[in-house]
Amino acid sequence: MSDTESKPATQPLYIRVNPRDNVAIVVNRGGLPAGSRFGDGTMLVEAVPEAHKVALNDIGGGEPVLRYGVVIGYAKRAIARGSWVHEALLAAPDAPALDQCPLATSVPEPLPRLNGDTFMGYCNADGSVGTKNILGISTTVQCVAATVAYAVKRIKAELLPKYPNVDDVVAVTHHYGCGVAIDAPGAVIPIRTLRNLALNPNFGGEILLVSLGCEKLQPARMIPAGALPVLEQEPSVSVLQDATNGFGEMVADIMTKAEARLQMLNLRHRVPCPAAELIVGLQCGGSDAFSGVTANPAVGFAADLLVRAGATVMFSEVTEVRDAAHLITARAATPEIAKDFIREMAWYDNYLAVGGADRQANPSPGNKQGGLTNVVEKAMGSVAKSGTTALMGVVSPGERATQKGLLFAATPASDFVCGTLQLAAGMNVHVFTTGRGTPYGLSIVPVIKVATNSGLAERWHDLIDVDAGRIATAQATVEEVGWEIFSLILEVASGSRKTWADQWGLHNEFVLFNPGPVT
Ligand code: CA
Repeated sequence: MSDTESKPATQPLYIRVNPRDNVAIVVNRGGLPAGSRFGDGTMLVEAVPEAHKVALNDIGGGEPVLRYGVVIGYAKRAIARGSWVHEALLAAPDAPALDQCPLATSVPEPLPRLNGDTFMGYCNADGSVGTKNILGISTTVQCVAATVAYAVKRIKAELLPKYPNVDDVVAVTHHYGCGVAIDAPGAVIPIRTLRNLALNPNFGGEILLVSLGCEKLQPARMIPAGALPVLEQEPSVSVLQDATNGFGEMVADIMTKAEARLQMLNLRHRVPCPAAELIVGLQCGGSDAFSGVTANPAVGFAADLLVRAGATVMFSEVTEVRDAAHLITARAATPEIAKDFIREMAWYDNYLAVGGADRQANPSPGNKQGGLTNVVEKAMGSVAKSGTTALMGVVSPGERATQKGLLFAATPASDFVCGTLQLAAGMNVHVFTTGRGTPYGLSIVPVIKVATNSGLAERWHDLIDVDAGRIATAQATVEEVGWEIFSLILEVASGSRKTWADQWGLHNEFVLFNPGPVT
């Protein structure tokens, strides 16, 4: 896909993604000085930082600038060949009109089935499969968070050692539950997110819920008994305001209920499960211009392998797919799925408009330092994670995924919000690509971090699990790194290998997406 020039890394080197492109990104670590000459004769007229774009032709004012074969912007003035093509020189195009997106017009043929790949997982009564065995303590409201944190510290010290088959105890605490407009239309999102977080496969259906008592989000509203038909027992609930004898009684009640759950969880054992039981959430954070040519295509290749094995793969981050909406709707398996996708895009367009923003609010200063000029360029690189298969379904924020194959789980791009919503969707393994670097991790599922460039992978050798930067320097192919990621997913899902985030216990907080008002 790229015409990386096969020369030693000391030679000026660029990656052009598509033959139509009139810009390419500089591969050399630390960037290149003025006067550097590439193999095609292009000479830099000024210094260009690593991962930033160089003009391969003279580009006239108002003419399109192409990367990934698509227009990422229009030149605000004439740009000479060999110039640094940066944010100040480009006007971004409009997002594709949603009412003109093609509906299921180029549905990819199914790829050959992959059979025989398995992992060692925990089977649940509801048919889902866990990759960890965790006691999850859910909460209805922030008021109980500190008390639950205190109880968890004691549970880990006094109870967990007695139950060696249980991996961890996780308090699902958050800022929601009271002081919010709980009947506003937007409230359904945080409420169902909390419900479905409690049902994540890695909690094994052994729900323990801690409530204050007087909060707006009452336990029965968060987890109605009727919403749990597959569970063999009602969730156990500890209500702090029911305590008649102080803090000690509250903690004792939580610990007693926790021990009952630990006894059940301790009976679970890993058994061989087909790779089809994986629900893999894909995300990027701290992206750079390499993301779309190294890590994301490799993750996309792994996504295709997972789909071929019958698994569920979710890509997300609405503002990072919005500019590729027309490409995704064309890939949808049916017009109905394409319309579901458009509905989520339209909802988010409105959500941003109400907040006085648009998708251009997405790129961060770090993205821009990493060579990404605008959200169009970021989006084209981001959707590479979705691979090449047909879109089989759309999951609204906070809902649980029920289909196999490639799904779009509509979430904000914010790392912690996206991760939390993918956990609610039932994710059991997370794959995260990063160019600028983040030590991000989640407590409930393993997080595999894939670096877009080798410099990051080397600097952060004890945080990055896969170095996809080798693709930029032609030391590995997209397919090779894709297979490596696929194999690593099976290993970490089996518990036979730990991700660096789990090695260090790097677990970011749960962050709910609450589009509703706070009172
Ligand atoms: Ca993100």
